[in-house]
Amino acid sequence: MSEHGHQYIDGAFRRGTAGENHDIINPADGSLVVTADLAGPQDVDTAVAAAVRAQADWGRATPGERAGALNALAAAMNDRAEDYAQVETAQAGKPIKLSREFDVPGSIDNVSFYAGAARNLEGKASAEYDGTHTSLVRREPVGVVGSIAPWNYPLQMAVWKVLPAIAAGNTIVLKPAELTPLTSLMLAEDCTKAGIPDGVVNVLMGAGRVVGEALLTHPGVRMVSFTGSTPVGQRVMELASKTVKRVHLELGGKAPFVVFDDADLDAAIQGAVAGSLINSGQDCTAATRAYVQRPLYDAFVQGVADLMSTVRVGDPTDPSTDLGPLVSVRQRDSVAAYVDRARAYGAKILVGGQAPGGALAVGSYYEPTLVVDVAQDSEIVQQELFGPVLVVLPFDTDDEGIALANDTPFGLAASAWTRDIVRAMRASRDIAAGCVWINDHIPIVSDMPHGGYKASGFGKDLSQYSFDEYTQVKHVSIDITGDVRKDWHRTIFGDR
Ligand code: NAD
Repeated sequence: MSEHGHQYIDGAFRRGTAGENHDIINPADGSLVVTADLAGPQDVDTAVAAAVRAQADWGRATPGERAGALNALAAAMNDRAEDYAQVETAQAGKPIKLSREFDVPGSIDNVSFYAGAARNLEGKASAEYDGTHTSLVRREPVGVVGSIAPWNYPLQMAVWKVLPAIAAGNTIVLKPAELTPLTSLMLAEDCTKAGIPDGVVNVLMGAGRVVGEALLTHPGVRMVSFTGSTPVGQRVMELASKTVKRVHLELGGKAPFVVFDDADLDAAIQGAVAGSLINSGQDCTAATRAYVQRPLYDAFVQGVADLMSTVRVGDPTDPSTDLGPLVSVRQRDSVAAYVDRARAYGAKILVGGQAPGGALAVGSYYEPTLVVDVAQDSEIVQQELFGPVLVVLPFDTDDEGIALANDTPFGLAASAWTRDIVRAMRASRDIAAGCVWINDHIPIVSDMPHGGYKASGFGKDLSQYSFDEYTQVKHVSIDITGDVRKDWHRTIFGDR
């Protein structure tokens, strides 16, 4: 891949023209994975031009032709599933068991889902709504989509962006995060192997401020689909407004985990540790704030502390490792600074709260961390840390538990733990989030929508619902009277 460059444009690898390189670092030990060339604004022009050229034919391919190509893509990815897992772990520091059992198979399943969904895109049935015209509704592609993705699940985020876009007949220019572009480039290469025409999927590896902003302002791009932090999402909306692009935003989260006093305590403890530590906590839906009804509070905190202390932190290529490093030293230091400030304001750190020393000091590791005695309005409760840190707070009444769960700017995901159907139904209605789990936290499927409320963004990834973002609806109205002078003309000139 590297000898031909790190941009994938019009069906081939190319060198970026920014005149700069970027080192992709393995966060487990600071070693160099690869030095990549960076794209500049000229590459954005070239990639958008290729996507514009490809769109007319791809948009007119039959649903069956598109589905066939996507099935071939799933097969091509499956053929090198282990390579995807190894590269994902090397660039992002994920435990290999997570890459092998979650990221890669989840991504391939997503491709297969959209192969099927491509054949189920339809407008509403036709009818004569005014008696004199037959109405048809067409669902059409938007055109060229510019997508910008984050580093936490590089392959899954690329697939979540690319698949609904191309299944619906759009073409795409994807900009993965600078830290983790390699599996997105592999995906683009596999698209070509699968017979997806040149120019349908283009990947540009470059800086957000340069390549990202050039995509956001490019007149050839009709829609922007962005996954990342809320502040950058605000910038995306602002820049996209200049050319009135459609915007789809999947932003930050600060998921609450609400434990009522009738919950299965052991299940809640296991769920809290798994839900907060997945991907080293670098998951927009990770459990970050546990609210526990007073009668269970002490036992929950003790149980989580005991279980967290057993989590195996270490080399992500070792199949027995539970928790790998954070994606970068910068991200690790940011998480450490949040915990240090909480500690300075009187929080108690019951587990972790530091970077491990010894052999792990070479990587950007941070210990699983449990924090209590914090105020609801403190930054560690209100802001997204994106690290392996869980805070626990008590509550008394059910209404208070729900109100605390809703008391941040975010609304991406949440869970409620109870054996009472009334409490479960009320929590699922009253928590303002795009997903509410009952008695679990994290599972995600290709068939169901994912997306935020409030400052977590709008629009849906995954499922048939994503086609609402990636298609536009056209009303076709056909006169069936054949009259020269239509009845309604009398309201403009003459009489009946
Ligand atoms: P980020 O916002 O810093 O960067 C995301 C992407 O935006 C990167 O590709 C980056 O290069 C690009 N970018 C940065 N500045 C830009 C600019 N001015 N113009 C255009 N593009 C720009 O986020 P991150 O640190 O890569 O990822 C972590 C964030 O992503 C967290 O906030 C997390 O919650 C969020 N996230 C959300 C979801 C979701 O589905 N809601 C999923 C995964 C991650």
